[in-house]
Amino acid sequence: MTGFGTAAVHGDDGLVPGGAVAPPIVQSATFSAESDERFTEIATEPRGSAFYTRYGNPNHAQVAAVVAGLEGAETGLVTASGMGAISTLALALLSAGDHVVVQRSTYGGTTSLATGLLPRFGVACTQVDQTDTGAFERALRPETRLVLVETPSNPLLELTDLAAVVASAHAAGALVVVDNTFATPVNQRPLSAGADLVWHSGTKFLGGHSDVSAGVVVGPAGLVERVWQTAIVTGSTLGPVDAWLLLRGIRTLPLRVERHNANALALARALERHPAVARVRYPGLPSHPQHALARRQMTGFGGVLGVELTAGRAGAAALLAGLKLAKRAASLGSVSTLVVHPRSMWAGIVDAAQLAAAGIGDGLVRVSTGIEDTADLVDDFLAALDAAPA
Ligand SMILES: *Cc1c(COP(=O)(O)O)cnc(C)c1O
Repeated sequence: MTGFGTAAVHGDDGLVPGGAVAPPIVQSATFSAESDERFTEIATEPRGSAFYTRYGNPNHAQVAAVVAGLEGAETGLVTASGMGAISTLALALLSAGDHVVVQRSTYGGTTSLATGLLPRFGVACTQVDQTDTGAFERALRPETRLVLVETPSNPLLELTDLAAVVASAHAAGALVVVDNTFATPVNQRPLSAGADLVWHSGTKFLGGHSDVSAGVVVGPAGLVERVWQTAIVTGSTLGPVDAWLLLRGIRTLPLRVERHNANALALARALERHPAVARVRYPGLPSHPQHALARRQMTGFGGVLGVELTAGRAGAAALLAGLKLAKRAASLGSVSTLVVHPRSMWAGIVDAAQLAAAGIGDGLVRVSTGIEDTADLVDDFLAALDAAPA
């Protein structure tokens, strides 16, 4: 494989028509064919780019090829959002009577899908503690089809032992599907650990600029084709302009992730020493309970950290109020540092007892570091913390 920088820039060479260096945006919902025979061909070509944009578009093909290259996958497809990716994948690979294993600490939408939507269609679900590798194995049943993994997880930054979970799932005949949104392929390549499919919220680090919603699924052609067969039914179609924007963002992914990693590590180290902070959750810190695992399966530790304030909710509120550079916003993986109090963000969506049970405390602030200069960012946080109650 070429390096990440080269793969990000050249992964779609050969898929861009003409001599354009930047791919043209093919803003067309449909495509003409010269004969009925040709039309029959293009209408049945899996993930073709010459029939109808819900089936495929040149801008989809280019960005899917680049992400597949970065993840070391055979092929991929794109959807209108990360949730479009995982819900389409689940509908494609599951049937009534099947069972899935999902982590207790995982993106809220994934929890809603697994514990709310899928059971209505006769798919059972078991939630497990991802830090307990044996819990995955104990949850497996003969009818388990998918094990849904997210590592590091949102927002607790807990890790899943990919190789161990893959080994037990495969022994039981289940597929392992990994949400690689937090790590990005630059820091972690789940397919190398044996996972079957990887998906992303392209809205986050891949797009990288908080200006596009998108999703990606990559893996072997056979599985991706099954997901595509369902994608043309669910219709979670990424617009050509958004596919172009996603690719535009990915061109600089390896450069950005280097800075995200450096900023998050520097901030984690600085915050961990501050008296207003009870705990910093970041896989790159030796104090992270799974730091050894992080070093084993990640090549960088990502741009997201969790900060738990000693003064609980009041401390979190003071930190958020005192920050000048960081913006209070949902989402992550942006060029700009984004901070959020997860307990408040989810308050209207998930009940307090469930949030507490999931380990999301009142003093927790999620920080997604941007690509600002490290010293400016650290100064911004330390100044805000100095003004916060200890
Ligand atoms: C945001 C996010 C998603 C959902 O992606 P959307 O593009 O918002 O649909 C899934 N997983 C993780 C880890 C996320 O952060």
